[in-house]
Amino acid sequence: MSKKRYTIKSSCPQCGCTDLTVLTEEEIKAKYGDSENVHLSCGECTEKYLSAMKDACPEWDEECRLKAAGK
Ligand SMILES: [Zn+2]
Repeated sequence: MSKKRYTIKSSCPQCGCTDLTVLTEEEIKAKYGDSENVHLSCGECTEKYLSAMKDACPEWDEECRLKAAGK
């Protein structure tokens, strides 16, 4: 398994600040499982919000779809 890293990008609906999280595949799976949504919390205002994985990390979403198609 490669140690490819994925950038999860989101912007807070409350204050609009952008949050970037870089995670490996293992870390994404541990944190979000197979969920289509990611739960995030803003580092600025601590607002908790939900973002669709395909918006937050299109690269990861695509990986998942390729894997699903390859089965
Ligand atoms: Zn915020």
